[in-house]
Amino acid sequence: MTLSNLRNITSQFGRTDLMPVLFLGHGSPMNAIEENRFVASFRKLGRSLPRPQLILCISAHWETRGTWVTAMSNPETIHDFGGFPRQLYEVQYPAPGSPEWANKTKDLITKTEVGLDYNWGLDHGAWSVIKHLYPQANVPVIQMSIDYTQPAQYHYELAKEIRELRRKGVLIVGSGNMVHNLRLVDFRRLDGDPFGYDWAIEANDKMKSYILNDDHQRLIQFRKQGLAFELAIPTPEHYLPLLYTLALKEKTDDIALFNDEPVGGSLTMTSVIINPK
Ligand code: ZN
Repeated sequence: MTLSNLRNITSQFGRTDLMPVLFLGHGSPMNAIEENRFVASFRKLGRSLPRPQLILCISAHWETRGTWVTAMSNPETIHDFGGFPRQLYEVQYPAPGSPEWANKTKDLITKTEVGLDYNWGLDHGAWSVIKHLYPQANVPVIQMSIDYTQPAQYHYELAKEIRELRRKGVLIVGSGNMVHNLRLVDFRRLDGDPFGYDWAIEANDKMKSYILNDDHQRLIQFRKQGLAFELAIPTPEHYLPLLYTLALKEKTDDIALFNDEPVGGSLTMTSVIINPK
């Protein structure tokens, strides 16, 4: 083996530095093309992150029976929403996929048989935020689905099985919203000043306190946390990516919040970064 081969292998697989882990509040799909304070901070974050070998995204918008990872070489940009301006349907995010990393991820997980998927692609939970972090679409992206048949504890434990990827240069990104009740959104107040109903602020404040105190049990048992949580999490798909992110926190990591604002009354954009000290 030549020295340069060896260097290649070390740079790909031998990294011991821990990569950060993110939970990104994605909010409206329009954040993909609008200029606002949320996307400005995603861009700033992108410039400060180490360059990953791969991004693995757990998006609120890919729910399946069983757990799947996308394994195609060139995932298509999926426009999985309705009633938005044409400009949003024209967005392409042509990041490559990675059959190799899909297989590695599958092999790490023992809790369940992970399927390799060749039909999905990148949904807007993934591309609407990742495009701000890596505008050149030059980092491969794979997605891992959320098994809607499983309880929160299961997702938390499943996430722990992929912790090793952080040491291999993989940036793991959960994409959802901590408080997300679309039925109660005041669409006139989605832009502009922060606006949250009392219950949304209450739920968001409690979640933040549990996040910053590593009280993951209460977050896993979100159904036992009272009315504010019930209103904040009417269905779990936008909340569960947060649990994937938190499960990956090591004792040696710091944790911080950003984009911590309510919008439209019943959504919060609050995002989380876990960083090695
Ligand atoms: Zn969403």
